[in-house]
Amino acid sequence: MKCIYCNSSDSRVVDSRSADDNTSIRRRRICNSCGKRFTTYERIEEIPVVVIKRDGSRQNFHGEKILTGIKKACEKRPIPIAEQNKLADDIIRELLNTVEEQEVATSVIGDLVMRRLKELDEVAYIRFACVHRQFKDIGTFMEELRTLMTDEH
Ligand SMILES: [Zn+2]
Repeated sequence: MKCIYCNSSDSRVVDSRSADDNTSIRRRRICNSCGKRFTTYERIEEIPVVVIKRDGSRQNFHGEKILTGIKKACEKRPIPIAEQNKLADDIIRELLNTVEEQEVATSVIGDLVMRRLKELDEVAYIRFACVHRQFKDIGTFMEELRTLMTDEH
């Protein structure tokens, strides 16, 4: 994104929100060269996001990976595919909306998916959490199970 004042391509995002049509995101940017602010409208699929993995390595963000993770967690659960797709879409949109810089840690994505799966299906949630090793040990795992069980009563 080039600065409209000085043409520098060195800018950072200071605010990010959904545009009315929901397929693009309105961003306020500040130019690192001249310090002026400007607004851009960026199409969701064109926003480059880099994922920081646990070992610190970086990878391009691929929305399909979120869908794959959700599908795996929902296997043999009574959740319609359409609902799984919608969940993945929602998560991707929320992610792109909240990522202020162009980088996001895998743990942030994992937490977001877990939070949404928890509302949808508890078994899928536990499965996803196990795969993503969000439980530090068996103790935290049991604690989470206990919370889920007491929530129901
Ligand atoms: Zn500038």
